[in-house]
Amino acid sequence: MEQNVKANIEAVRAEIERAARAAGRDPGEITLCAATKMQTSETIRAAIAAGITVCGENRVQELTAHLNDDAYAGAEVHFIGHLQRNKVKYVVGKVALIQSVDGEELLSLIEKRAAALGIVQDILIEVNIGGEESKSGVTPENAHRLAALAGEMEHVRLRGLMAIPPVATISGENRQFFARMRQLYVDINAKKYDNKNTMDVLSMGMSGDYADAILEGATLVRVGTALFGPRSANRAHG
Ligand SMILES: *Cc1c(COP(=O)(O)O)cnc(C)c1O
Repeated sequence: MEQNVKANIEAVRAEIERAARAAGRDPGEITLCAATKMQTSETIRAAIAAGITVCGENRVQELTAHLNDDAYAGAEVHFIGHLQRNKVKYVVGKVALIQSVDGEELLSLIEKRAAALGIVQDILIEVNIGGEESKSGVTPENAHRLAALAGEMEHVRLRGLMAIPPVATISGENRQFFARMRQLYVDINAKKYDNKNTMDVLSMGMSGDYADAILEGATLVRVGTALFGPRSANRAHG
């Protein structure tokens, strides 16, 4: 198991490097975020020992359990799942980056909680780039609105954008969505809604399409299955 994870990390890193070079980019500017949902603390520790520097958690319950276990020691942890309003307090100040800010109310609650803690919380805005009903995330227009709101807040720092495009059935199918995200990222940066900082994170690409995401400008890819194997084989549905 641990041997596998190490070999998988190496294979994914090699693919990241290949895609980056194909796009004329420096592989060093792309962060590999291990999507650790449904993994045990033991597997997370093994992944970090094998070189993973960023873990992404989907569920507050798992995040809290792994934090209590000190499973992320040596790495940073990001929150990448849908964040319910009543769980904000378990996430703000506990993770380096909340990637999944998908509404005005959530943004305000994060600001409030971060203010109470006396910290600045880094965030990404999640964009529903495929316009899918089943997915969270804001429209591109609302991403501008949220970025403008975030720019006025003292205790959140907008670091960039995140997207989960539709499941691709044909290889390369999602490049159009990744390209649109890249354009939105450039457009929002150009508006300088927050004159304190420039966005530097474009989080897109998962096991099936991270190479395409890198070709279109991703700076962070979130990979689970390609590192840890199919989740159903590890544990029951969660
Ligand atoms: C599970 C998950 C991933 C990783 O998905 P894989 O297809 O297993 O690589 C990436 N991002 C989010 C938000 C996820 O929930």
